[in-house]
Amino acid sequence: MKKTVLSLSIAGAMMLSVSSFGSPIANAVGNGPTYGGNETINTSILHTYDEMVDYLKKEDAKQQDMELEVIGQSIKGRDLYLAKYMKNPENPTILFLTQQHGNEQLTTEGALEFIKHLGTNKMKGVTDEVNILIVPMLNADGAMGDVDFSLDDYIAKGDRNLTRYNAAEVDLNRDHVTKIQPETKALHNNVMKKYNIDYMIDLHHQGARSERDGKLVSGSILYPTTPNADPEVVEKSKQLGAVVFEAIDEKGWGHLGKYSGGSAETISRNGIAVEYGISTLLFEMRGMSDHEYDSYVLGQKSNGYLIKQTITTLEATVHAIADGSIETKDTSFWDSLAYQTTRPSE
Ligand SMILES: [Zn+2]
Repeated sequence: MKKTVLSLSIAGAMMLSVSSFGSPIANAVGNGPTYGGNETINTSILHTYDEMVDYLKKEDAKQQDMELEVIGQSIKGRDLYLAKYMKNPENPTILFLTQQHGNEQLTTEGALEFIKHLGTNKMKGVTDEVNILIVPMLNADGAMGDVDFSLDDYIAKGDRNLTRYNAAEVDLNRDHVTKIQPETKALHNNVMKKYNIDYMIDLHHQGARSERDGKLVSGSILYPTTPNADPEVVEKSKQLGAVVFEAIDEKGWGHLGKYSGGSAETISRNGIAVEYGISTLLFEMRGMSDHEYDSYVLGQKSNGYLIKQTITTLEATVHAIADGSIETKDTSFWDSLAYQTTRPSE
């Protein structure tokens, strides 16, 4: 009798743990959760700019290989940071850029976690082989909602609203040719022009209803699509995409599409590839942290896998560059990868 009760309770516990583990994953790329007015989106759980700076300074103090630099200031005077691991300038170099759009914060949350991992045994030795540059939260004013226009219509609850634009209501990812905004200037003058960068991943979030092959995507990716980009740069961008696709799409929570993007060089994916010969990848993850449109934001139940998606992306790419495996990646998957489409509203 006792034994039966025990095995039943074990079976019950197993079922419980499977279902509690299984359902958010099924939800993540299946049929939700999208924001329907009944799911929580509280921006207070995200790092504020000040909390991020504290975090970076603590990691900088702990990690011998890390250097923390200020590359400029936002319109509202916030210092913009570069976390740098550069042991040997001769090694290949990758740049990870987050939050050009202030309302796309989970990429920054993942980048911060990645920086912590670089100081642990898990990532030991990788910085001997590859230089890593991380610019987190380029649009610090937008991320803090400290802007000169109204955010009254924005959906998220919490201590602040987050917006795409910088304080002057300019989209930083349309400013990579003229470079008028101080945030874009800081990036170009003190990062792009200063280092010999081989690869860049520009991390973003898109709306919550993009799908590929009938299934909502966890994100979509794209290489430079301007005709002015050197074909060799584009091919290396596709290899960078291959590393990301292999690392993410096989995961239970991962499902990637091909992003449908234009050829304008005002966008970093195109402009930076042309101006500096850097191989670039745009990664648009599912759902934004805040917006005025219901269908763009995503409830915070999805935060875990989206942060994990960022960490997995960053770790997989630095490993593939460190061991050289990126250079032999087959890029033919791009030809069969379907462009994402938008699932119509119910
Ligand atoms: Zn974006």
